[in-house]
Amino acid sequence: MPARTPSRITQPVTRSPLLLAWWAALWMGLLCNWPLWQRLYALPELATARGRLFLLAFMVIVVSSLGALLSLLAWRHLLKPALLLLMPTAAALAYFSGSYGIVMDAEMLRNVLQTDAREVRDLLTPGLLFSLLGLGLLPLLYLLRQPLHQAERWWRRGGWNLLSFGVGLLLALGATLGSFADFASTMRNHKSLRYMINPLNAVYAMVQGLHGSSAAATLAVLRPLGEDAQAPAPGSDRPRLLLLVVGETARAANFSVNGYERETTPRLAQEGALSFKQVTACGSSTAASLPCMFSPLGREAHLDSGKQPQENLLDMLQRAGLAVLWLDNQSGCKGLCDRIPHAQAADMRPPADALCSSDGECLDEILLAGLDERLAALDPARRARGVVLVLHQMGSHGPAYYKRSPKNAKPFLPECENSALQQCEREALRNSYDNSIAYTDRVLAGAIGWLRTQEKSYQAALLYVSDHGESLGENKLYLHGMPYAVAPREQTHVPLILWMPDSTQRAQGLRVDCLKARLDLPVSHDVLSHTVLGYSRVSSKLYRPDWDLLQPCRA
Ligand SMILES: [Zn+2]
Repeated sequence: MPARTPSRITQPVTRSPLLLAWWAALWMGLLCNWPLWQRLYALPELATARGRLFLLAFMVIVVSSLGALLSLLAWRHLLKPALLLLMPTAAALAYFSGSYGIVMDAEMLRNVLQTDAREVRDLLTPGLLFSLLGLGLLPLLYLLRQPLHQAERWWRRGGWNLLSFGVGLLLALGATLGSFADFASTMRNHKSLRYMINPLNAVYAMVQGLHGSSAAATLAVLRPLGEDAQAPAPGSDRPRLLLLVVGETARAANFSVNGYERETTPRLAQEGALSFKQVTACGSSTAASLPCMFSPLGREAHLDSGKQPQENLLDMLQRAGLAVLWLDNQSGCKGLCDRIPHAQAADMRPPADALCSSDGECLDEILLAGLDERLAALDPARRARGVVLVLHQMGSHGPAYYKRSPKNAKPFLPECENSALQQCEREALRNSYDNSIAYTDRVLAGAIGWLRTQEKSYQAALLYVSDHGESLGENKLYLHGMPYAVAPREQTHVPLILWMPDSTQRAQGLRVDCLKARLDLPVSHDVLSHTVLGYSRVSSKLYRPDWDLLQPCRA
């Protein structure tokens, strides 16, 4: 049988990588930025013909900058892998920006990278899958199937790419200059817009992050802090025991002890807890706030000190000879507890089944289970100098707020049980969030109950502070993590609550009326480290009495 030969040899039509690059730039620039266009379209100052023209110019700026950038990647073996990374990212960002008002910066990228599987699962909604499929995967499939030109001389390819880069840049520059007055005023008045330009925001965040981590890698030596930390030798007094509860995503405005109209914190009120009402968080996300809260340097110096890893309040307490323990019911301590004893609450034996779901997620009361044993297991010589127990809550971690309170403790119904928060009734969303605050009230009351059992052996106290707040749909924003400079008050106004029994007040000569008179003073997370140092009688050159909430009220 004669071999059949094709009647003619068909050459597949190949495409220039540049063509694909611009195709992708158009797709991502125009479609994946729908939240940005929607936001600009809704701005009252852009509701004129001139404003609409500016919107067009903005589109040209975004598409041409993206095209310029992709032109540099338009090499036969580079373009497709790059698009494989960029397009799904752009599609996911479009969804988060459009539904939660979340935007991307280096900090948010760090949050994303530090998150765990459970947190991701809560965010997986049909909307996200739909966006990933429609905006990310389908166009990507099309692009990946396009055969590219055969190999050509590198300088020829490079020349074309550079030319295309130049054209993109010129277009972007031209459109910017042509609309400069509107461009400048819009960007100035709406600072968060710049973080919405997708996926350039993610690329920028990545470059910043890489730069930061390479800088950190060259300086990976841990910087000691407060090497002179000292605590007085044990005396005849009962040692001091501080239960420091680090809250999660709790915003000050939803605590009835702060004047919220709903009874979310009746137990704290009944216990006579002191609530500092004007506390500003260090950051708008866990990854930013936690290290900053525990840095005795305070926010400004902490940020100035760069990316070098450094010791924190807990290291100082341990160095001074105190017993320190970090107990976690969340995705970890962000490196804060690396050098001190720490444990994951869910790992306790025997497991407290009633508090944990089958997938290992536990309600915060697990933090209180077995505290006696945990305390007894700490070094007795250290305990005699003082104890600081840190409980890291799951708190009001979103978007699945309804999972943060047990079924039998939900004063506010009905709840929103949808992770796509923008689809929830506003009232139901508020209910599920407030239930998580009411549950924190119960957890803190439990902690106070436990502290009362320790009064014979210790001068006990409770300090509760949240890492950052939360947006619940105000200005169409949800969750948290907005860049600090533009973060709304809901995300940075946090509760800080102090409780100490009479016996502790008397032993330490603390005047409660004096403290009560100071509850409305504006303070920041900067006070945390110094209040703990002061309470624990740990001395150091770093200690600042003006940042110690208790100092002015000591007899
Ligand atoms: Zn947090």
